[in-house]
This record gives sequence, structure tokens and C-alpha cells, in this order.
Amino acid sequence: MSATIIDGKAFAEKVRTQVAAHVTRLKDEHGITPGLAVVLVGEDPASEVYVRNKGKQTLEAGMNSFEHKLPAETSEADLLALIDQLNTDPAVHGILVQLPLPAHLNSDLVINSIDPAKDVDGFHISNVGLLGTGQKSMVPCTPLGCLMMLREQLGSLSGLNAVVVGRSNIVGKPMAQLLLGDSCTVTIAHSRTRDLAEVCRRADILVAAVGRPEMIPGDWVKPGATVIDVGINRIPAPEKGEGKMRLVGDVAFASAAEVAGAITPVPGGVGPMTIACLLANTVTACCRANGLAEPE
Ligand code: NDP
Repeated sequence: MSATIIDGKAFAEKVRTQVAAHVTRLKDEHGITPGLAVVLVGEDPASEVYVRNKGKQTLEAGMNSFEHKLPAETSEADLLALIDQLNTDPAVHGILVQLPLPAHLNSDLVINSIDPAKDVDGFHISNVGLLGTGQKSMVPCTPLGCLMMLREQLGSLSGLNAVVVGRSNIVGKPMAQLLLGDSCTVTIAHSRTRDLAEVCRRADILVAAVGRPEMIPGDWVKPGATVIDVGINRIPAPEKGEGKMRLVGDVAFASAAEVAGAITPVPGGVGPMTIACLLANTVTACCRANGLAEPE
């Protein structure tokens, strides 16, 4: 293996420490405690784990955590009423509605009902537009975490060829916008892309956000490239015992690490950075709401 392993867990810990220090200053100097409200509708087990982790880390950073768990059959009107209440609650600086929502709820409508200033996931159409036009916005947490790791690893990204595989609104598209903002030459690939292998081989920065276990093999990676693996895929792990599972990314880690200059592991790469960025966004939202200087 030749690649540097980008330690997202350690980096996330550093970000969380900085967030906690900022929270202490907000409390001591201004008497303000940032608050994050997380709304979970239904009982999706993966979502429950995410929400639990978010709540725990919010409290550990010294912030207030408000959890709202609603039954799967919650009506759209009731969910919108709760969001309305959170929008006007001065103790709540960030609102996150855990996705996916049950099928009878219109996700776009729900997300766009969040006050854009409290939209710490950065999915509100106003924040999407602000990001796309290079204006100050709330930046989606997963792509923000990826960008932070890339800057830390490479310094300036200017002029580099970046390929983002995946065009979802929550990862692929905002990732591409952020890379463009850092003056990369950006290609967005997806399921209809022709000769994906060749497209990937041109990438100085390769971001995989597909959701297909180990679909990008090492021979699609340009020698020396920086590889960011966003994918979280659960696959059977009979070696751990019957019925056991393990997590893998969208990149075949072992073969890609032979070729890449640097690569994020799964788990321990992008995942931990996502929650750290959520906490950072909540502090940013709190500072903006109170007319105070934002964290760097
Ligand atoms: P989506 O399913 O919304 O999007 C997947 C994208 O991959 C689509 O644009 C799709 O193309 C593309 N795609 C699918 N198959 C192929 C293929 N064979 N070749 C090329 N492109 C393909 O997923 P998300 O963006 O929500 O998530 C992607 C992955 O990232 C998942 O594994 C998810 O679990 C993980 N994730 C991790 C997070 C973290 O914190 N680490 C946070 C969020 C997501 P098309 O549009 O043409 O269908």
C-alpha cells in the first residue's frame, strides 16, 4: 500500500474540539447556547443510529440538543406545524429533518419549509441557490467535510481535475459546486456516463458518492490521485460469523490504496466528518442569528 490514509476520525475530533471551544466562548461572553433540533419521522434503524449519534455529539460539544421523534404515520400538516414552531423558537439555531422521510411525505416541501437561516443541512432551495452562485450559504455537511479533508491534504485545489461520481442533491451536486468554488475543473459522472473508467482515470481528485459496494477498482484511479470515498455500504461478512455484516465504501480500498496518493477509509473517513460539520454549521447559524463573528 502506498497511499496516505486520510484519518477522518482524527480530523473530525479536531473540528469538534474547535466547535466546543467556540460554544464555550458563546456561553461565557454572550450567554448564548447554540441549539440543534433533529426531527426523525418513523423507525428506520439506520436513521435512528444517525440521530442518536448527532444528539450525543451535540451535547458533548456543549450545545443544546432537541430531539423530536414522530411516528411513521405523521401527517404532512403536523410535521410542517412542528417545523414552523422550531423556526420561531429562539433557542433553536439549527433544524435537521432526517432523510429519507416516509413515502407519504413530500421531502422537498418539508425541507423548503425550514427557515433557510436554520437549515444546517444546507438542502433548502435558497441555500442551494446561494451555494451555486458563490454566495454565503449553509453548506451541506458531507460535501463540506470532504472539501475540508481535501484542502488539508492538498492545500490549494486550483486547476486540479476533479471527478465526482454521483449527482444526488445531498452529496454529488453540492460537492461539485464546492470543488468548482475552489477552482477545480469539475466533471460530474452518473449512471449514464459513458466509459466511467476513463473519466475516473483523469481525476486528480476522485470523489465517489454512488452507494455501490467497491464499484471503483484500483485501475480506475490515476496514480497519485486523492480519493474521497463517501459511500457507506453494508455487505455480508461471513468471516466475522454467520449473519454478520461489515461496512465498505464505493471504492475497492485495497487496490485503490496501491495507486492513490491519498485515500479516505470506510469507516473512519467521510462519515465522522459529516457530523462534525453539522455541529460546525449549527455554531455558524447561531453566530449569524446573533450578529456575531462566525468561526473560520
Ligand atoms: P443516491 O442514491 O441519491 O445517488 C447515487 C448516485 O450514484 C446517482 O447520481 C446515480 O446516478 C449514481 N450511480 C448509481 N449507479 C451508478 C453507476 N453504476 N455508475 C455511475 N454512477 C452511478 O445516493 P447519495 O448521494 O445519497 O449517497 C451516495 C452514497 O454515499 C451512499 O452509499 C450513501 O450511503 C453515502 N452517504 C454517506 C454519507 C456520509 O456521511 N459518509 C452521507 C450521505 C450519503 P443517476 O443519478 O444517474 O441515477
